[in-house]
Amino acid sequence: MEKLKYKDTRNFAPIDVTRGVDLVTKQIVMADADAPDDAVIMPKCKFCANFNETDAFMGICTASMNDPDFFAYPDMVAVTCEMFEAL
Ligand code: SF4
Repeated sequence: MEKLKYKDTRNFAPIDVTRGVDLVTKQIVMADADAPDDAVIMPKCKFCANFNETDAFMGICTASMNDPDFFAYPDMVAVTCEMFEAL
């Protein structure tokens, strides 16, 4: 797996679309910068076994009980999704 980006970790609190704060070091960091090795992954659809990517920025949730399955976006935060299954 490629290195996690800050924006994909719980260590990151966004300030704007490009920058945020590393909640451990309190330093301002870039959202797309590589996160430290011990950073904690943020549950997102793209890290879920139920996510099926259909395009670069779009997919479907295969755990959906709707017919057809509902759209899911890779960067959608899934902290409250009860169906999230870590890869
Ligand atoms: S189960 Fe939840 S986290 Fe997983 S793809 Fe579906 S909506 Fe996203």
